[in-house]
Amino acid sequence: MVTVYASERVQTAAAQQALDEHITLTATGQCRTCDIPGPCPWWEAATAAFAQTRHLPRRTSGLTRPDLVGVRRVAFSSRT
Ligand SMILES: [Zn+2]
Repeated sequence: MVTVYASERVQTAAAQQALDEHITLTATGQCRTCDIPGPCPWWEAATAAFAQTRHLPRRTSGLTRPDLVGVRRVAFSSRT
């Protein structure tokens, strides 16, 4: 049981790393590692791996860089 748990942890960690590296950038719509329109096959494989292990991927805030597409929080409140 311990061995199964450990290998699952390794698989989850690898999938998490792939999710972080192959995230689709909001600004370009492309994988930031592969430079192809995302989600790329690596990202989808990582997602499938998470579905198998039943672990939820950890979300890293700001990873998709919404600031690059000019998202502004206060669009109207600055106008008086
Ligand atoms: Zn990729």
